[in-house]
Amino acid sequence: MNGISNSKRERRRKKRTNKKNNRRTTAEQAAALRWIGEWVSLASSSPPPPQPSTPSSVSDDFQVSVTRKQSLPERPAFELHSHSFYSDGYLSPSALVERAHRNGVRVLALTDHDTMAGIPEALQAAYKFGIRIIPGVEISAVFSPRRESASEEPVHILAYYGSCGPVGFEELDNCLSSIRDGRYTRAKTMLLKLRSLKMPLKWEHLVKIAGNGVAPGRLHVARAMVEAGHVENLKQAFSRYLFDGGPAYARGNEPHAEEVVKLICRTGGVAALAHPWALKSPIPIIRSLKAAGLHGIEVYRSDGKFAAFSDLADTYGLLKLGGSDYHGRGGHDESDLGSVNLPILTVYEFMKLARPIWCNAIRDILQSLADAPSNSKLERILKFGRLKYPKGEMSPSCCKDIADLCYSWLTDEEKQSIEFEAIRCKLSDIVIHNSNGFPNPVISR
Ligand SMILES: [Zn+2]
Ligand SMILES: [Zn+2]
Repeated sequence: MNGISNSKRERRRKKRTNKKNNRRTTAEQAAALRWIGEWVSLASSSPPPPQPSTPSSVSDDFQVSVTRKQSLPERPAFELHSHSFYSDGYLSPSALVERAHRNGVRVLALTDHDTMAGIPEALQAAYKFGIRIIPGVEISAVFSPRRESASEEPVHILAYYGSCGPVGFEELDNCLSSIRDGRYTRAKTMLLKLRSLKMPLKWEHLVKIAGNGVAPGRLHVARAMVEAGHVENLKQAFSRYLFDGGPAYARGNEPHAEEVVKLICRTGGVAALAHPWALKSPIPIIRSLKAAGLHGIEVYRSDGKFAAFSDLADTYGLLKLGGSDYHGRGGHDESDLGSVNLPILTVYEFMKLARPIWCNAIRDILQSLADAPSNSKLERILKFGRLKYPKGEMSPSCCKDIADLCYSWLTDEEKQSIEFEAIRCKLSDIVIHNSNGFPNPVISR
């Protein structure tokens, strides 16, 4: 008897606590929504987010339906992981942006493998749709607990940058181009090793298998071995010759994952571990990368939250992120752009951490331009701040315009906090001559 009433009381208490939590969550979510909505519509080119005029029902992070009394900005959809044909995606950055727009995405991170070459085109296309582009890149790295190549595991690290791109772009760019070159060198070394093992393969054959402009990887080599009749199947190719440290194995130029995380932090980016569920030993990797400065890990996928990695994110104090990893391959098994439903508080946590990092990067980049102006610095900034101006729009005539372009990401408060006026003032003395034709401006004081 007593037991029953106790359990009733317990249920009632739980109900009360839940109600309280829901109320609090709703208030938190409303604040987060406003804060993010403001940022998304900060760009002067962006249309303001639609305002629902009647009370509507939204599903919150905990699958509870909440009726809104006040009208809130629409929850802006973030897509934080996507690829274009500048790496192994199938769509151009413009087509990708258009698809994102069709799918309701308001903020898109283009994260091609080891290149940021698609960003200017994505920015140009996004301008038309009022979509915000987060300049990103997915960097190939390796992890080995004792830095031995025999126990190496490939790791992908996502980097998210602000409106002026990375600070010290050359350092990042050198790292990326060395990784890209390394893929070709690695494939050639594997063929040399196979030749010495009396299993010759033609380079042209391998390139054909990999496809146009794609650097051949181990899987492509394995497929060529099967097609040439050297092995019976892909598994045999790997288990006998191509396994990590195997007789035909070769390393690329992928840096150690900790170095990549440190590089991203140094260059003003947010670093996140991509698809940790693909790793053989995720825990030591997450632990080491956290120590190197990692900010987050992917936890959300289009099929929901991956509970084990969500717990790991909690354990190590990491942001819980996620994206579709859309490549445009087609087929039923591919998650579409914008299909990962990031909870609003997750987006809020990400932005709360990212914005001061991006703010500092913007300040450092513009300060460096103000102190020692050069065309190369200016061109680099414009790469990330909409390189080409649509017809009818004014090209920048002095560096103050560049500051305004970069500061379009910032709220008034943020502008004040990073000595906006001082830098802007200094930049207004620097004139850009467009006689050479934009985007090859000539700078003078
Ligand atoms: Zn990846
Ligand atoms: Zn990816």
